[in-house]
Amino acid sequence: MHNTVLATLFRPEILAMSAYHVADAHNFIKLDAMENPHGWPADIQQAWLEHLKDCPMNRYPDPEAKALSGALRESNLIPAESGLLLGNGSDEIIQILQMALPGNATVLAPEPGFVMYKQIALGLGLRYQGVPLLTEGFDLDLPAMLAAIESSKPSLIFLAYPNNPTGNLFDAEAIKTILEAAPGLVVVDEAYAPFADASFIRELPKYQNLLVMRTVSKLGLAGLRLGFLAGDSAILDQLHKVRLPYNINCLTQITAHFALTHQDFLLAQTSDIRQQRSEVMAALQTMDAVKAYPSAANFILFKTLARAADEVFISLKNQGVLIKNLSPQGGVLHNCLRVTIGKREENQAFLTALHSALQNSS
Ligand code: PMP
Repeated sequence: MHNTVLATLFRPEILAMSAYHVADAHNFIKLDAMENPHGWPADIQQAWLEHLKDCPMNRYPDPEAKALSGALRESNLIPAESGLLLGNGSDEIIQILQMALPGNATVLAPEPGFVMYKQIALGLGLRYQGVPLLTEGFDLDLPAMLAAIESSKPSLIFLAYPNNPTGNLFDAEAIKTILEAAPGLVVVDEAYAPFADASFIRELPKYQNLLVMRTVSKLGLAGLRLGFLAGDSAILDQLHKVRLPYNINCLTQITAHFALTHQDFLLAQTSDIRQQRSEVMAALQTMDAVKAYPSAANFILFKTLARAADEVFISLKNQGVLIKNLSPQGGVLHNCLRVTIGKREENQAFLTALHSALQNSS
């Protein structure tokens, strides 16, 4: 269809935007998407397959995912009195939250941050305001955040804790100050909580406008597409109205429930990833040609100092290693790459390839 016709059909923001791009990872060592690299032990997999037989494929799934919600509550992940909303990944929760806002609402988030906050705001025709992080250490610029809150009165603020793509935990006191200053909702997005020793879950009873969002994706269940949001039940009741009735399919409900009751193997994998993170960080710190930033997540952001990140990224790809090139986003991310922590041998292959990519610069 001709562009002039498209322009009559769609909003300018949509026409200007690019679709979320996922690189083709076929045949690569895949360290680009913050997945858990470990599969399931054979005995767990066998027990899970048995469970799947209980999934009545001819029926719609439970629209409220009661058994899974109950298991989430029992696992002590959320305070007993808190409301709960499940989403098809936390991506869908970000969308549900924004769909319920007034049409002229502003959504605010620090930048660089997770791109879907902005992408969904623009897609829904809302206003979006990004507030730059401090360039040293990537913490929140609290005065700038408070000034932006004062001037644009955001209905919704997203704070990723730890932050993607920078990997750091923002100062908890600054988040509390923002919670007090915000006129609307504040979502603390804890997608990477399994790799950090900090969480706002226990703060939920103290702040009515606080919502804590989690996902099982980084824990090792990215294929399931399951996220959850905890917070004041009167707020979540409103959000449930814009949620699609069967957003959590039967296979996801049964599998997530099963995984929650067999969490130990996932926790062991998480602790292996944390150990690997220390080893990769230590190796990056010995390289003069890169600067690695501290991480409380399952990835490490690093800047290339002696060679353009675009070239290093391509060299890594040519050596069969796929990571994420953030340099095209510019600003503080200029010459920045992000590597997801994989299995020991994958990390080793990455480090060897990186070493070679950096050597070739001289
Ligand atoms: N929040 C953050 C900070 C993320 O980095 C991501 C995924 N990269 C998500 C949310 C979305 O996770 P999912 O939709 O897989 O639950």
